[in-house]
Amino acid sequence: MSVWDDVAGQPEVVAQLREAVAIPAAMTHAWLFTGPPGSGRSTAARAFAAALQCEVNDDGAVGAGGPGAERGCGVCHACRTVLAGTHADVQVVATEKLSIGVDDVRALVQRAARAPSAGRWRVVLVEDADRFTEHSANTLLKSIEEPPPRTVWLLCAPSPEDMVTTIQSRCRPVRLRVPSVEDVAALLVRRDGIDPTMAAYAARAAQSHVGLARRLARDEGARLRRRQVLQLAFEVTGVGEAVVRAGELVDVASEEATAATAERDAAERADLLRSLGAEAAGSLPPALRSQVKALEDDQKKRATRAKRDVLDRALVDLASLYRDVLVVQLGAGVDLVNAELGREVAGLARRGGPEQTLARLDAIATARRRISANVNPLLAVEAMALALRP
Ligand SMILES: [Zn+2]
Repeated sequence: MSVWDDVAGQPEVVAQLREAVAIPAAMTHAWLFTGPPGSGRSTAARAFAAALQCEVNDDGAVGAGGPGAERGCGVCHACRTVLAGTHADVQVVATEKLSIGVDDVRALVQRAARAPSAGRWRVVLVEDADRFTEHSANTLLKSIEEPPPRTVWLLCAPSPEDMVTTIQSRCRPVRLRVPSVEDVAALLVRRDGIDPTMAAYAARAAQSHVGLARRLARDEGARLRRRQVLQLAFEVTGVGEAVVRAGELVDVASEEATAATAERDAAERADLLRSLGAEAAGSLPPALRSQVKALEDDQKKRATRAKRDVLDRALVDLASLYRDVLVVQLGAGVDLVNAELGREVAGLARRGGPEQTLARLDAIATARRRISANVNPLLAVEAMALALRP
């Protein structure tokens, strides 16, 4: 076993990081992990952090891994505590906020400047480095340009372009790709103990997005909601149905997003009130109301983004169905994402030609683009549903 076991389907990345771990004298102090959502950026960064702190000695002969062990053994105290998120010299920054502000970064930079307390390195892992504001990125830049000798920054973002160029150019890139369906299914079986048939379905349906695949495999509600989304393709027979189904799709996405954020919102509010010394909201002095208001504004923004994300995912699912239709129409002979709907897909494929299917895929892509550009989601989805009619 090793810390790399959970880095599914990324042999090049693992090779690159193992090499870096093996030559500490040539250590790069800032790394940028990029890859599409669900490809395992933060999993890879965490594994790297664990391997950096691993207690296996330089000669590889002594340590918990036994003779000949390589750093990243996965069994020593350091490996296990890093992976569990409790190692004193590895700080993981995971934010639900829309942006990482300059005060947060200043505190991080200060901590990063300290020598490691027990481990070999002081590691700061930022999961959503694309959320740095320009100002906070500049604050971070100084620490990356003149890094303390034993500090390592691990930044994660969807793509290098999500980072300001000054930071991008000072980081060594680690590029993850979309893992294969088989790799993701194998991970779900091994790591999460999921039944192989279910794991294969979930990895396929999630199109190799590791987190989504796990949710689909474990949560029947998520599977039902996905099925409901796909159903839209078979039900938009006329203008009336298109409008009704579009409304339902937006509602389902909205409910799912609310369910995901409501509990956290309430906990944050309770925390804030407690920290302000006002347990009951009714007794809040006017001077403190602005702080509560700021939190509510933040939460509202987050809820809006969550709704947009869930809806976008639903449209990706819907597009996967038309992609399957196209595969059948072209006789491409590759696996269907929605193999369990093979008969229905074949039915849709018979009812039209590839041009029509491509036009429908375009309509879905247009809706996604418009929603990410802040068009009213219902309007965007309605226009799409109308374009999906036979
Ligand atoms: Zn170890």
